[in-house]
Amino acid sequence: MAAAELPCVLVVEDEPAQREVLAYNLEAEGYRVLRAENGEEGLLLVNESAPDIIVLDWMLPNVSGIEVCRRLKTRAETRGIPIIMLSARSEEVDRVRGLETGADDYVVKPYSIVELMARVRAQLRRVRPSSVGETLQFSDIRLDAESHRVFRGDATLKLGPTEFRLLATFMEKPGRVWSREQLLDRVWGRDIYVDTRTVDVHIGRLRKALCPNGETDPLRTVRGAGYALG
Ligand code: CA
Repeated sequence: MAAAELPCVLVVEDEPAQREVLAYNLEAEGYRVLRAENGEEGLLLVNESAPDIIVLDWMLPNVSGIEVCRRLKTRAETRGIPIIMLSARSEEVDRVRGLETGADDYVVKPYSIVELMARVRAQLRRVRPSSVGETLQFSDIRLDAESHRVFRGDATLKLGPTEFRLLATFMEKPGRVWSREQLLDRVWGRDIYVDTRTVDVHIGRLRKALCPNGETDPLRTVRGAGYALG
């Protein structure tokens, strides 16, 4: 699998031992892990690397986890990234406060690593279902992320790996317009330099693969904006 395909988890935790245990377990689950040891670094990494999900410690030096969460949830570009808050506090009032700040889930320390992994997976299933092996359906097109197969009606379609990732991205959010730059980030990864025209080439291949017998083209070119499914 290409690195861009792996879900990316950002861990923000100031205790080195706890950070490493978390990162180790997440990597063992097959995720790409980014590590931040404080809130400022966490915010920086969100902007640089657009993680799919954030595991965020509440108690951090300087900028607290609550503040990091609040900042990310007030910005339109980062609002959609699920945040799982970690806290040593167990009082109900803190839990409520954590969720009010916009955290998507809240786990009390000491937590079971198995449970935390299940919660990470649950959040990813919501925002990037294909990355955790779910089957996606759009009209008569079905994408099985587990077996890496795509069907249209009863026919099996032949897609290259890049076209498969493109289609998975589209099928996770039907109707959403993706710019070429966003598709490059999601499908090719930010670390690789690829010209935006490459996106057009692969969109062309995907269109061809989706309509082997002259079926309706489900992809829409949005002038000046990018591409959308449906
Ligand atoms: Ca801490």
